[in-house]
Amino acid sequence: MEAVVLRQFGDAGNLRLENVPVPSPGRGEVLLRVHACGVCYHDVINRRGNLPRTHVPAILGHEAAGEVVDVGPDTPGWKVGDRAATLQRLSCGECALCRAGRNSLCKRDNRFFGEELQGGYAQFMVAPVAGLGRVPEGLPWAEAATVCCTTGTAVHTLRTRARIQAGETVLITGASGGVGLSSVQLAKVDGARVIAITSGEAKVQALREAGADEVIVSRGLDFASEVRKRTQGNGVDVAIEIVGSATFDQTMKAMAPGGRVAVVGNLESGVVNLNPGLVIVKELEILGAYATTRDELDEALRLTAAGKIRPFVSETVPLADASRAHFRLENREVAGRLVLVPPQA
Ligand SMILES: [Zn+2]
Ligand SMILES: [Zn+2]
Repeated sequence: MEAVVLRQFGDAGNLRLENVPVPSPGRGEVLLRVHACGVCYHDVINRRGNLPRTHVPAILGHEAAGEVVDVGPDTPGWKVGDRAATLQRLSCGECALCRAGRNSLCKRDNRFFGEELQGGYAQFMVAPVAGLGRVPEGLPWAEAATVCCTTGTAVHTLRTRARIQAGETVLITGASGGVGLSSVQLAKVDGARVIAITSGEAKVQALREAGADEVIVSRGLDFASEVRKRTQGNGVDVAIEIVGSATFDQTMKAMAPGGRVAVVGNLESGVVNLNPGLVIVKELEILGAYATTRDELDEALRLTAAGKIRPFVSETVPLADASRAHFRLENREVAGRLVLVPPQA
């Protein structure tokens, strides 16, 4: 089969198309014919050698979608022809955390596609079924591939972690990225009022189209007073913090008493100053949100197939162009999501 193999960590040119044997599925695994695989910034970080669990040679890609063409032994519930999309990571399904539904915290099996597991930059891939969601009929492959990392993350963050309720006001920072646009749409589906924060005037239109009730363009990162103004001085019930350290202080100042802050991104890997007094007197909840569970991916795929959440704009390119795709992503030449399409043998 054709696969893009990384033999040495480094720049985009190290991603090369090769011919390698088709892997065969073991216990609890299926063989997927990959129809599409999203190119995520996580893959760029991985390619540079900054993810310690990846060893070369490696086949990257954790946003794959495809059809089952072979089923390993002891793999109940899956058959040839089933349509599937990958989660970012696995979970054991049996430990106390998994039994409590906290699969994204499982330590017993935390393997990632494209790291310890072969990824989707290939014509075929073996996937443990614990790491797969089901793609509804009619949902295009390129869209299905990118749902987990965008809408799946939004489902986990807004519903599971932030427990968003109809009628609440939700602040979303970094709202114009993939997770942000999905979060805006999901919050509207769930009946909330959305205040979106973005850094650029050019992104306002896309946020309005996604359903944001209010859009605040804030370059100087001083949006809290504006949020207060637009909430009659109350502040917001829920904040989805996608930017992280750079906006965290303003987000905290924009919270209503009893508010929940779900932190899902920290783009600059920075630290923050936190006044515990503010957390105390307002009884704020600060919640982390990480990855996506299988139920959440299934829900995200359903929402997408039903047309309730529009997938992040996709451009499809041949698998052979993976190197070029990484180069473009790193150089910010990509608006939306690039998706690789392997040749269909
Ligand atoms: Zn991703
Ligand atoms: Zn577990």
